[in-house]
Amino acid sequence: MNELLIRGRVLTFLAEPQGIDDTAAWRYIEDGAVFVRGGKVVEIGEHAEVSRHAGPGVAVADHRPHLVLPGLIDTHLHFPQTQAIASYGAQLLEWLNTYIFVEEQKFAEAAHAAAVADRFMDELISNGTTTAVAYCSVHPESVEAYFSAAEARGMRMVGGKVMMDRNAPDALRDTPQQGYDETKRLIEKWHGRGRAHYAISPRFAITSTPEQMEMSQALVAEHPSCYVQTHLSENRDEIAFATSLYPQAKDYTDIYARYGLLNDRMLLGHCIYLSDREVSVLAETGAVGVFCPTSNLFLGSGLFDRDKFDRLGARWSVATDVGAGTSFSMLETMDEAYKVLHLNGQKLTPFNSFYRLTLGNARALGLETHIGSLHAGADADIVVLDSSGKSAMEYRMRTATSLAEELFILQTMGDDRCVAEVYVAGKAMKGKGKADAARQRLLETA
Ligand SMILES: [Zn+2]
Repeated sequence: MNELLIRGRVLTFLAEPQGIDDTAAWRYIEDGAVFVRGGKVVEIGEHAEVSRHAGPGVAVADHRPHLVLPGLIDTHLHFPQTQAIASYGAQLLEWLNTYIFVEEQKFAEAAHAAAVADRFMDELISNGTTTAVAYCSVHPESVEAYFSAAEARGMRMVGGKVMMDRNAPDALRDTPQQGYDETKRLIEKWHGRGRAHYAISPRFAITSTPEQMEMSQALVAEHPSCYVQTHLSENRDEIAFATSLYPQAKDYTDIYARYGLLNDRMLLGHCIYLSDREVSVLAETGAVGVFCPTSNLFLGSGLFDRDKFDRLGARWSVATDVGAGTSFSMLETMDEAYKVLHLNGQKLTPFNSFYRLTLGNARALGLETHIGSLHAGADADIVVLDSSGKSAMEYRMRTATSLAEELFILQTMGDDRCVAEVYVAGKAMKGKGKADAARQRLLETA
């Protein structure tokens, strides 16, 4: 059995913090340790105690003085857009047509899809993200590439082929029947295989006909354990276009509601301009609004109203939305989240940020028994954060006097340079641990 004792300042959440002094919402162990065996967490606690239970001779990864947290979770991004980040000068619909619908055509080619999928997974890991929910392209080949790359790394990943049968170039359109058949085949192959979860993915109301929405409804009814993902209320022109295509619907949210797509496994990207009625519908159905701050600023889309979600009891999560999102880093994402909420007169404490990146996003996916917190039996997906990972941060950290301050510095100034190590199911994937493992393999084969 693969055993490892990971030592450092351990931080994990138990509940959503109700304020900066709500110490019952998290567990912080200054000289802490996580004991890992066979890809699972066996025990977390004080180093002295956990190491005694682990016994003599167990391998130790000593990450002091760094922070040891559950791996970060990204609840919405687009793997085929990995190479289209930073495409200049357009808002949503023009950006899609000018850049994205050109880029995604390349994924008809399996070799291209495989190469990008490898790079995509490595970027996630490099940024400390161990689970993500991604859209693939319309091509089944892109889904094969995506889940194969995740499986090779042992990652728990959610994804699916986008279905789109109108308002897109010919090369990116499926038909309602084709979208249904291909999705069905991919679910049968991948959903529940290892750590893979399938997301039924009608891209958004603009690119799906009513017939395709009906097929999506059938897929959701036939596969209730799959996720569902789409986009909602991102941009004013998009809202006008979408609602014009479905004149019977009360509003944009009602388009998805009419096709039975709203449930507690539904993730709706953006949700910026929702009325109280629409947010209440999300609350009733358990559907999750996904806040994508770097994307919303980059495309000039608008400001997410988090307080409205909280007030009406609707669930929400955070995400990068790469490639409209400008960074794979969930730390940079929370930096922008803080600023977006600030512009709306809303507060985001550093403890709430780190809750969202871990347990909060795990709960949004209903995966909190497996990921998002460090507890006995959890998957050993772990990130090690170095709060002095950049020279300006090291200098700033000299005056930091509390954990809250340190977390705020990490989210405001941090990026992949602050991710010292990443464990996926107990296996070191980024830093020194990865280098050591590679050296060990070389010695064994020599
Ligand atoms: Zn998106």
